[in-house]
Amino acid sequence: MLYCTKCQTVCEDSTRTCPNCKRSRGLRPVKDNDEVFFMKVSEGEATEISALFESLAIRHRTEQVKAGFSTSVFDSEFVPTDRNIYVEYRDLPRANETLAQEKEDPAPAEEDDMPKGKRMVIQTVSILAFMVIVMLVVFASDFLATLLRELFMK
Ligand SMILES: [Zn+2]
Repeated sequence: MLYCTKCQTVCEDSTRTCPNCKRSRGLRPVKDNDEVFFMKVSEGEATEISALFESLAIRHRTEQVKAGFSTSVFDSEFVPTDRNIYVEYRDLPRANETLAQEKEDPAPAEEDDMPKGKRMVIQTVSILAFMVIVMLVVFASDFLATLLRELFMK
């Protein structure tokens, strides 16, 4: 694999110019400790991913996206708080795997921890409670209407 020192991406050995920035002068064989542009994320995601990589000892670095300079053609839109994540080449496969797993199996929402039966009971109870309230309102207004009618009939 080749490494483009201009935009910090890797590409196939067969290419003469970097497919990302279209330059040829920055290309050289990639080294294990080269920082490869990994992805651009929002500030919050950067913190999360950084912590995740930290826990797995994936060598990485995050950097504020510079205004007027986009490292990639993947995405030219950015907000100033966005961060670029760079991962060392030797840890890149692990970084990719980690993120792929994260996407496949996102942290379950709290609601999903509840057993299905229990959730159904709660739903049924809340539906019944709602019906009781509706009936009470109907009876109460009916009672009031009767009361008023009796008052005026007299
Ligand atoms: Zn490039």
